[in-house]
Amino acid sequence: MANADIEAVKAAHPILDVLGALGIPVSHGRIRCLRPENHSHGDRTPSVSIWTDRGQFKCWVCVDVKGDVIDLVRLARNCGFREALEFLGGAPASLPAGRPQSSAPVNRNLPGTEAPALPNQATESAEAEEEALRQTLLAALLDACPPVGGKIGQYLVKRRIFKRTWDSQRLRMVDDYAGISRKLEAAHGLADLERFGIFNPAGHLRFYRHVLLFPYYDPTGRAVYLQARAIDPEAKPKELSLAGHIPLPYNSRLLDGEPGQIYLCEGVIDTLTLLEQGFPAVGVPGAANFKAAWGPLFRNKSVHVAFDPDAPGETGAAKAIERLQAAGIEARRLSPPAGMDLNDWFRRG
Ligand SMILES: [Zn+2]
Repeated sequence: MANADIEAVKAAHPILDVLGALGIPVSHGRIRCLRPENHSHGDRTPSVSIWTDRGQFKCWVCVDVKGDVIDLVRLARNCGFREALEFLGGAPASLPAGRPQSSAPVNRNLPGTEAPALPNQATESAEAEEEALRQTLLAALLDACPPVGGKIGQYLVKRRIFKRTWDSQRLRMVDDYAGISRKLEAAHGLADLERFGIFNPAGHLRFYRHVLLFPYYDPTGRAVYLQARAIDPEAKPKELSLAGHIPLPYNSRLLDGEPGQIYLCEGVIDTLTLLEQGFPAVGVPGAANFKAAWGPLFRNKSVHVAFDPDAPGETGAAKAIERLQAAGIEARRLSPPAGMDLNDWFRRG
């Protein structure tokens, strides 16, 4: 078959149709890897991006899982090039004249093309694709980083935050800077890692001093954002964040719509402190960061805004309360007595 004919086969079969024919579900522009054995949990959080415009796919972990619709069929059916072409129905009828009549089966319907089209996925926005990629890179970083222990655990213990809380919040640490760097760079390439604020523009993992990782998970348990804290008291700034928007407050799984109290904290450390003391707490990365769009997430909760008793804390608390109340949520300021921080106050209970 001539190259031009092969190109015509590809052009005749949009990747979403081929995925439909193969019975592979697409979720948010992603599919699960065709080599799930290379992934933790069988690639429960899909790692393969789909580009509907180019008709291509690529796994962000496996170097050999990528390509066009023919490669897709070969991987999914574990077959050769010729079989993959046959599956796709050979050359389409619209080929230019002059193609030998006797070549591969012509104009056979692709199995499954009767299935409803997937217009939403086909027109999925570039932003959604970017967000999906950011989540994949974040998942790769967290996969490479072990749970907190050792010296980094001691840092939390000093703040009266103990192992059951580190574990329940799935905190991670950068314990092997060089190894984690190499692993990420080999699997993903520097350009994307830099774009999402995981590597710096000089091509290095950003979390060299900021080795304590606070992942933000959505209610399904998928990591959607990250803050990293330096345990070295000299480091400035104390915390680093991923590039891009903050989709949800920290520990948003407590925002379940059930009636109850909730404490809204400034920063992850304060949130962990309250959780350790048995209070239901969620956090914003900084006092100024409570978004108007988050108000409705707090439905049925009575919110105590426990930001720091300083100027940014007061301003931020007033804004958060206003935004919560605008969403019909009951919210009030909670302030430790002057000179006492939240940690001391709650421990004295
Ligand atoms: Zn893969």
